[in-house]
Amino acid sequence: MGKPTGFMEYSRKVIADIPPLERLRHFNEFHIELEEPERIRQGARCMDCGVPFCQSSFGCPIMNLIPEWNDFIYQGRFEEAFWRLRATNNFPEFTGRVCPAPCETACVLGINEPPVTIKNNECFIIDRAYESGWMVPRIPPIRTGKRIAIVGSGPAGLAAADQLNQAGHGVTVFERSDRIGGLLMYGIPNMKLDKGLVQKRIRLMESEGIEFRTDSWVGKNVDPEKLLAEYDAVILAVGSTVPRDMQVPGRNLKGIHFAMEYLTSSTKHLLDGKKLNGSGLSANGKHVIVIGGGDTGNDCLGTALRQGCKGLKNFELLPKPPATRTEEFPWPLYPRVLKVDYGHEEAIAKFGEDPREWGILTKEFLDDGKGNVKGIRTVRVEWTKDPNGKPVMKEVPNTEEFWKAELVLLALGFLGPEGETLDAFKVEKDPRSTIKAEYGSFSTSNPKVFAAGDARRGQSLVVWAIHEGRKVARAVDLFLMGETYLT
Ligand SMILES: Cc1cc2nc3c(=O)[nH]c(=O)nc-3n(C[C@H](O)[C@H](O)[C@H](O)COP(=O)(O)OP(=O)(O)OC[C@H]3O[C@@H](n4cnc5c(N)ncnc54)[C@H](O)[C@@H]3O)c2cc1C
Ligand code: SF4
Repeated sequence: MGKPTGFMEYSRKVIADIPPLERLRHFNEFHIELEEPERIRQGARCMDCGVPFCQSSFGCPIMNLIPEWNDFIYQGRFEEAFWRLRATNNFPEFTGRVCPAPCETACVLGINEPPVTIKNNECFIIDRAYESGWMVPRIPPIRTGKRIAIVGSGPAGLAAADQLNQAGHGVTVFERSDRIGGLLMYGIPNMKLDKGLVQKRIRLMESEGIEFRTDSWVGKNVDPEKLLAEYDAVILAVGSTVPRDMQVPGRNLKGIHFAMEYLTSSTKHLLDGKKLNGSGLSANGKHVIVIGGGDTGNDCLGTALRQGCKGLKNFELLPKPPATRTEEFPWPLYPRVLKVDYGHEEAIAKFGEDPREWGILTKEFLDDGKGNVKGIRTVRVEWTKDPNGKPVMKEVPNTEEFWKAELVLLALGFLGPEGETLDAFKVEKDPRSTIKAEYGSFSTSNPKVFAAGDARRGQSLVVWAIHEGRKVARAVDLFLMGETYLT
């Protein structure tokens, strides 16, 4: 696999980025792929470690055949690399851009050297496949006559649709939004994942026989009973869409929005070719505070900067994580370490400092006298552990501060899928408010209804949604046919 001495000869080189201040002028992707000989060297760094943890349960959730495609990259056999990648990953053009790459934190080379650039290698392979015309429709030769309805078109619903269509079933995907893709479309911003790529994939899937219905809200303008009567099975891949709120005084003031409301509106305006400036949801000319870190918080930072915000802060309740692995997260576990993501990097370039404030608690939103938010009152918090090791938060006296803000974005995570859809199908919830469906069978309390993705496992990652989509497809195929070849 790779070149036996490659890891000693070549150092890790990741894709370059357009400088932050330059890329803030647009919403386009901003990475620059390496020259082909350098990409080949990056493939060569994979070192035939014997037990590739990158593709184990510590690493890639879809068990991508990483050492195999790294070897093909090293040999310049890119089309074969593509076929090995396609064997396990339905959408490498998405994961190659947005995955946090647990494969790399589990890479054996990463124990004492920088790991192999697995995510960049993956992205190179699929981009090369599109450029070279290898991504042609695969039309199933035989149709089974079975029909499956998939509710929700995020990565879980799309992966399930792709697998079940390839198994010969008739698949219809119902999406309440005006565009297909779930959080791949409205959620993850364009600069991180170009929406043209999502649309290209959807067109390919359509040409392979999958039917997509937009503006189809199951439980509102699409009758769940009708779906149950007309289809042989239904998969709920409706995501985890109920946002966590913050009940502090002033929450009802104008100018305080959930992150998803803001990000959706930004992408929708971009794709519809409309300007957002002047509308309540534009950050243009405003002091913006994003409450909550994580991917969503970072995407809000990047979006607000591109819209021309005047000031930017990001509040996080938790303390600042360490810069490197601690004993709490030994290799090959995915470590909780300080990340400087694209939005942080851009904010530093624009305003000269990291926008993040750690260990800070919002006490009140302040009124400008006309019902609009004008700022936030906060206190600092300290974290300790109780005798059982449970984290305990304590407010630090005399640390009250005031922060100016005309736009506040709440990126506090999600609580689970919306109850109405679940009630419409009479499916039970588990104690975490997600759909109750065992991993493996993925079946709900309604025998004809299956569940997958964030709606079942809770807020997670694109790669886990693809994993769940593949596994629920396997379970449905088995349910309908009594046997399955899907993996
Ligand atoms: C802002 C943001 C950024 C993120 N960034 C990353 C990242 O960089 N990397 C990463 O790996 N993960 C990221 N994630 C997480 C990742 O996007 C999700 O884990 C993943 O999209 C979940 O996929 P899903 O298919 O389960 O659900 P979703 O993608 O949420 O899709 C569910 C779909 O169901 C539709 N729907 C819901 N109810 C109905 C109904 N009744 N009828 C019809 N349609 C319905 C919704 O409109 C939605 O389109 C991010 C999440 C957010 C919010
Ligand atoms: S999908 Fe994610 S974890 Fe898997 S190989 Fe790609 S980057 Fe790594």
